[in-house]
Amino acid sequence: MIDVQLKAPLAGWSLPLAAVPDPVFAEGMMGPGLAIDPTGDTLHAPCDGEVLTLHAARHAITLGVGAGVALLMHIGIDTVALAGRGFEPLVAPGDQVRAGDPLIRFDLDAVVLGAASAVTPMIVVEGEGVTLVDAVVDGPVAVGDALVRLVSAGVAASAIATAGETVRHDTIVLLPHGLHARPAARIVAAVRASGAEVTLHAGDRSASAASPIGLLALGLAQGTAVTLEARGGAARQVIAEIEALLTAEVDAAPAAAPAAPAAPRIVQREIEPGAIAGVSAAPGLAVGPAFWLRMETPDVPTSGDGCEIERDRLAAGFAAVDARLDTAAATPGQLGGVLTAHRAILADPDLRARADAGIAAGLSAAAAVLAAAETQGAALRASGNARIAERADDIRDVALRVVHAILGTEPAALSVPAGVIVLADDLLPSQLAGLAAARVGGFAVMRGGPTSHVAILAAGMGVPMVVALGEAIRPLADGTMLVLDADSGTLIADPAEARLAAARETIATRATAEAAALAAGNRPAAMADGLPIGVYANLGSVADAEAAAAAGAEGCGLLRTEFLFLDRATAPSVDEQATEYRGVVAGLPDRPVVIRLLDVGGDKPAPYLAIPAEENPALGVRGIRVALARPEVLDAQLRAILSVPDVARCRIMVPMVASVDEMIAVRGALDALRGELGIGPVPLGAMIETPAAAATADLIAGHADFLSIGSNDLTQYVLAMDRGNPALAAGIDGLHPAVLRLIEMTCRGAATRGVPVSVCGGLAADPLAAPILIGLGVRTLSVPPARIPSTKALVAALTLAATERLAAAALAAASAAEVRALARRFAEDTDR
Ligand code: PEP
Ligand code: MG
Repeated sequence: MIDVQLKAPLAGWSLPLAAVPDPVFAEGMMGPGLAIDPTGDTLHAPCDGEVLTLHAARHAITLGVGAGVALLMHIGIDTVALAGRGFEPLVAPGDQVRAGDPLIRFDLDAVVLGAASAVTPMIVVEGEGVTLVDAVVDGPVAVGDALVRLVSAGVAASAIATAGETVRHDTIVLLPHGLHARPAARIVAAVRASGAEVTLHAGDRSASAASPIGLLALGLAQGTAVTLEARGGAARQVIAEIEALLTAEVDAAPAAAPAAPAAPRIVQREIEPGAIAGVSAAPGLAVGPAFWLRMETPDVPTSGDGCEIERDRLAAGFAAVDARLDTAAATPGQLGGVLTAHRAILADPDLRARADAGIAAGLSAAAAVLAAAETQGAALRASGNARIAERADDIRDVALRVVHAILGTEPAALSVPAGVIVLADDLLPSQLAGLAAARVGGFAVMRGGPTSHVAILAAGMGVPMVVALGEAIRPLADGTMLVLDADSGTLIADPAEARLAAARETIATRATAEAAALAAGNRPAAMADGLPIGVYANLGSVADAEAAAAAGAEGCGLLRTEFLFLDRATAPSVDEQATEYRGVVAGLPDRPVVIRLLDVGGDKPAPYLAIPAEENPALGVRGIRVALARPEVLDAQLRAILSVPDVARCRIMVPMVASVDEMIAVRGALDALRGELGIGPVPLGAMIETPAAAATADLIAGHADFLSIGSNDLTQYVLAMDRGNPALAAGIDGLHPAVLRLIEMTCRGAATRGVPVSVCGGLAADPLAAPILIGLGVRTLSVPPARIPSTKALVAALTLAATERLAAAALAAASAAEVRALARRFAEDTDR
């Protein structure tokens, strides 16, 4: 007999269990209860009791409240995937607690952003015949408010048929997050329905499989060997059911969500237990010891020695850095491009004017330039646009160069050992340049964004980088062994020996495959069944073209011409553009080169184009809208392209197309110029980056010679998630079925006109995505030069029929995580 008043364990809005967005809870599979959509960040004891279990991921706790009754409180839905991050337990199993005692403190923001829902069920998971009375639901509650009474009349335990054969079966827990509340509830439900008595043994510990508490208390992690023992009832059948639940490779998702006033659902990716989650900025896998790179700020005198002297020092500092950057900008590849951009920052009259003003106010030249950079950087950070904000680091970097030049000092030599994983609060492009020669294994950065210059540089160096890892990496000491999985955007500290060995083996296998693929060199890419697939390169400079040719690129599928236009004070002239285009085309002899028309605006500012400030720049004047609004810009770029001697190998591509009219307008301008210059046809293609373009691909294909899917933008516009926002980066996945359905629609629309489709966004270089894209009808993949050999090797292992089956399954999947699971299984089968 029990009669216990439960108090609200959390501040928030109380809900009936049926409103929990997870059927395992909502359908009462775990037992009766209710839930709270929290506004508070501390879970309290709803009554006196004893802590029975605390899940290893610290998101769920059970409390024995007497008379064999136990309560489970589960903070949020799918929070096991957060692997303990943001949860701070305040009690331990065995502790006696009083009503109102704090049990777990948690980061509510992290739960809201990182989990399927923050709704927190409180369930009676143990106790026969318990009913809930006087429940207060559908209203606001404060911690300690009366919530519901638990009443039981001491009903006899249900009869279990224990007669019959005893069946034993060994298996291994494969659930990625081990046995947690949801699969435990499914096991209990299966056991209760079977009428069998089932015991689960793990090592020397055992628990009844009819007891959720017992199961959770076993704390079964992925990889644990267990023995199932069943007697009576449908013993064999229930063992098969339990095994299926324990060996699922993906935790059963909280499927159909009943209507609930739940927190916004952010797409949740699978995160390896124990891993620290960040955002992938440059792909790859690395293993190595941690090495902290500490930011050095030189000692700078605040007051100056008089305006004249300080102005001279400033001028000398600017001149010295300009000369150095001028020489260094000739460095091949992305690094040269970034250093050129830094030279443009140095030439920014605003930076210089602010520094001069600082000197006039009495500052030393060094202090004045640092202050000027800080003011400029703060303005960029305040723009609210992550991509623009990332440029603040470049300004600080340039200012530090000037400070060193003024002080006559050199940045402390970067003596970074080879093979380490560099940890940093943030990285400046110049630091990365210094590290280029050090052969570091990878970069793990607390702050930063995936589109920053350092991210582009790291990708160009072929060094994996994960950014936005946050404070979780701060406690990692130098020398801590790390696995940096930049493909999934995670960092694992102190990995188990087996995990380390697996990572090393993957790295070795990849290196062998890369070497073989590179050796296969210039052979055109074809699938195992002979179907040719173009493997082209995405380029941003002449040096990139040379690297791509060396890697075996069959052409350029995307020349991002905005590299010529950004980070400078005036537009490049026709001649300047022509020189660059000519260089790129010459760098890829005999191969087609797709030159994309200027794609600025939005997240790629070009101040001299004077696009008025926009509240919503991603949806504003960007891409082809800029060129159509500024016909002289379009005219100059088309003239430059048409002046390339090898123009017959050039194709022109229109960015951010949203309607047929834009293609007609560009075609008109191109044809008029060709007529004027006496040049023959030049293929004109459309980028499919907006949902509008994908949905009308058949119409656009009527005015295009080729279509190329810009999956980066298409994904951000389909999912309504800013591609530059690190807070959303984990959810921005081009393998979301919504994106794939639009890609399928694009391929179908293009096929009606016989127009070929390529993908030049990041999805093309994702080995899990490429087979799906081919299965959907894409016939050219345009990837960064470093990915050419591996993409060719991947394509060679595929057959069209298999990719089409995979693509069909992906289109029917419910989430990006499900598509990734399908693609992973496909990759394993292909490897076998
Ligand atoms: C894209 O959006 O996928 C694309 C290739 O263009 P960018 O990344 O340059 O916007
Ligand atoms: Mg784009």
